[in-house]
Amino acid sequence: MFAHTTATSAPTTASGGRGSVTGDHVLSAPTLDRIARFRGGGLPVVSTYVGVEGGPDARRALQTKTDSLLHSVRSLADGRTLDHEARVSLRGDISRIEEVTRTQTNVRGTVAIFSCSGAQMLEVVRLPRTIRDRIMVDATPWIHPMLAVLDQCSRCCAVVVDRESARAWELYLGEIRDAGRLDGAALRNRTYAGWHGLSEVRVRNRADELARRHLREVAATLEHLFRADRYDVLAVGGHAHELPAFLDFLPRGLRDRLAGTFSIDPHTATAATVRAAAEPILEQYELEEQRRLVAELLQSAATGDRTAVGLEPCLWAGAVAAIGTLLVQEGAGAPGVVCEASGWFSTSGETCPLCGRATRRTPDVINELVEAVIDEGGSIHHVRADTELRRHLTAARLRFALPPIPEPT
Ligand SMILES: [Zn+2]
Repeated sequence: MFAHTTATSAPTTASGGRGSVTGDHVLSAPTLDRIARFRGGGLPVVSTYVGVEGGPDARRALQTKTDSLLHSVRSLADGRTLDHEARVSLRGDISRIEEVTRTQTNVRGTVAIFSCSGAQMLEVVRLPRTIRDRIMVDATPWIHPMLAVLDQCSRCCAVVVDRESARAWELYLGEIRDAGRLDGAALRNRTYAGWHGLSEVRVRNRADELARRHLREVAATLEHLFRADRYDVLAVGGHAHELPAFLDFLPRGLRDRLAGTFSIDPHTATAATVRAAAEPILEQYELEEQRRLVAELLQSAATGDRTAVGLEPCLWAGAVAAIGTLLVQEGAGAPGVVCEASGWFSTSGETCPLCGRATRRTPDVINELVEAVIDEGGSIHHVRADTELRRHLTAARLRFALPPIPEPT
């Protein structure tokens, strides 16, 4: 899913504290990658996520919520737990984050701000969905919530079709884009000579035949688009009585991707009405997919296949790069420890059992796990649906059977 992200960045300049230019970005894979790779070289990184519902008070709400999130960072910046350089960097972060929230416009969804002023880093990313407000001060950017949003967004093709026209719309990361007409050539010359002198019945039959040809061509074009991996999911809209005829033309592979149908008048359909109709279908489809993934994995676990269920087994599996697929309950977070040298992590332990070095504490070890799995080429699914995973927080499909978990030290 990361590979074919095309959302573009729309840079705006804003001054904030000392240091670099801030770019405001729509969530995309390159942005995510750049942020994930950042290291503060010993300086703290402040990661802030603030959700806003939109409307006239959006900016004020953003400022108020950010201000209250920053309380904990202010006490850290004024306290004695960190060295001087780190405290100076944090003060810079506070003023830059305040500056960013003052200059945001058209706020809706979540504004994610990553700042490490002492290392000249400031990134602002807009996420299409509202997620829980949170702030984190850590050695690395806290990207887990951002991954969760990106991961959960299927690329959906919503096609609006009738007997003589078809238009595709792309829904992705909360945006809708007109992807153009999908019409076949069959109906381009509707008034050719052959029609003159035909009986009414024959004209109607001829029209039906052309309509069928059109629908067949639209289905073929769609199949081509899905084969080229442009989309994950299909939604089909049109006059309710005309939809079954079109669905009959969908090849089996496409029917498997069909998330649902919606009733809409193709002549008056707009981006807004298509979006309003297709989004709930996509939402239901994604939740259903998540339930299926959890059920299948827990079924495998019950029959003794290579799986890890629960946080501690998954952390160990992640530390030895055994995870092929990781399921994470959305919003789950847990404090823990990390060994930078050997990539070991756990919920507790002063020293690493693999190399004996001192561990670093992290406020969210699941974030570390997610990053490690991505680094090792595994896939991540964040689960928003209400399933058994709520109890376990994480569960994984493994590439190989795990060695025994080392004793905590
Ligand atoms: Zn170690």
